[in-house]
Amino acid sequence: MSLDHRLIDLLVCPLCKGPLTMARDDAGRPQALHCAADHLAFPIRDGIPVMLESEAHALPPDEPPPSPWTAPPSTTAGEAAT
Ligand SMILES: [Zn+2]
Repeated sequence: MSLDHRLIDLLVCPLCKGPLTMARDDAGRPQALHCAADHLAFPIRDGIPVMLESEAHALPPDEPPPSPWTAPPSTTAGEAAT
């Protein structure tokens, strides 16, 4: 009960000012605030979010974003040139 959604709504990433999502443990307790844009996790200690870049740790890129570019065609022009 130390954190509610109204408080979370007020919290933004200190780096990009973007929205944060709360990560919870199996017991439903807040663990960290994640910034998807920066791939950073800000820890929550004793119910208090620590919004310091120096305290944040990088999130593993478990969800690769969709590629904004199309993959170049593989080089299969081996027999075209003589
Ligand atoms: Zn951010």
